[in-house]
Amino acid sequence: MTKRVVLIGHPVAHSLSGAMQQAALDAAGIDAIYEVWDRSPLALPAAVAEVRGDDFLGANVTIPHKERVVPLVDRLTEEAQATGAVNTITREGRRLVGHNTDVAGFEIALDRLVGRQKMPKQAVLLGAGGGARAVTYALIRAGFQRIVIFNRHLHRAEGLVKHFARSAAHMDLKAMPWHESIIESELTRTKLLVNATSIGLARDETPVRGEILPGDLLVLDLIYDQTRFLRDARAAGNTVSDGETMLLHQGAAAFKLWTGQEAPLEVMTTALSAARAGGVRSAEGEPAGEEPAGEADQATAASGVG
Ligand code: NDP
Repeated sequence: MTKRVVLIGHPVAHSLSGAMQQAALDAAGIDAIYEVWDRSPLALPAAVAEVRGDDFLGANVTIPHKERVVPLVDRLTEEAQATGAVNTITREGRRLVGHNTDVAGFEIALDRLVGRQKMPKQAVLLGAGGGARAVTYALIRAGFQRIVIFNRHLHRAEGLVKHFARSAAHMDLKAMPWHESIIESELTRTKLLVNATSIGLARDETPVRGEILPGDLLVLDLIYDQTRFLRDARAAGNTVSDGETMLLHQGAAAFKLWTGQEAPLEVMTTALSAARAGGVRSAEGEPAGEEPAGEADQATAASGVG
């Protein structure tokens, strides 16, 4: 029987994950099809229930469902529990397990960016969505002592800080209002700057003006593109990295969970490049559309995080 893996998102027409995972399945000789399902939040429970079927190896979950899917699975791994977000589902019989491979993907991206330098201890994080949760957890695990989170809607950043209160009890994790002067001041006290907002994804926009970027930072944009933010940061002399490594390695970790096999990284990298050259954007990167204010917060509350 041909097996199935499905990416559930909304909207999610074409995706880099689809190209990358199908190429990996084919290269590994696994008879499986990677499908893409566009499901609204209301249709999510039925979609997740379908993944319990014998023909499924598992699923990926992306914007805007990563937090909403938490109460719909039977068990969470440590990363999924800690972040309150699930991007990968596997089956144990008819039971579903929620994983968060964005954490591992970010950890590899961070290690590559830091290289031979000492792991920094201070970070500024822009954004407070699902991606930011994976970043925050990875930074706490990496021993960061100070993480300052800026978000357009301050209450969401405050919710994130509250969510991690226990695991960050030994360090300084705080939310601050999005004012350029405050961001500028924090940047003088940090070593790592991460963009986990979707600013720069659909348009050539940047979350922070190049003028306020110092020249001695490690800068990572989760967006899989040479964004204006990264171009400005590089021009100012900073060491920069885009979201490709994270996307590749969260996908590789998911592949291993579904198949039990090591992911063919080179094949996946080539498929990513080809898909991008053909104009496909990341499902991670599709704008989630305008959600009614508060819906995301309700989903967070429903997921039992905090
Ligand atoms: P969410 O929808 O959960 O969060 C989006 C974030 O962007 C929020 O912090 C939101 O702020 C902010 N934002 C969006 N538009 C604006 C705007 N116009 N002005 C200010 N802030 C804005 O998405 P994710 O966290 O899942 O993803 C965020 C980004 O990270 C995406 O670009 C995605 O591509 C990338 N990503 C990449 C991954 C990879 O593997 N490379 C993995 C995961 C994510 P607010 O809360 O105020 O609305």
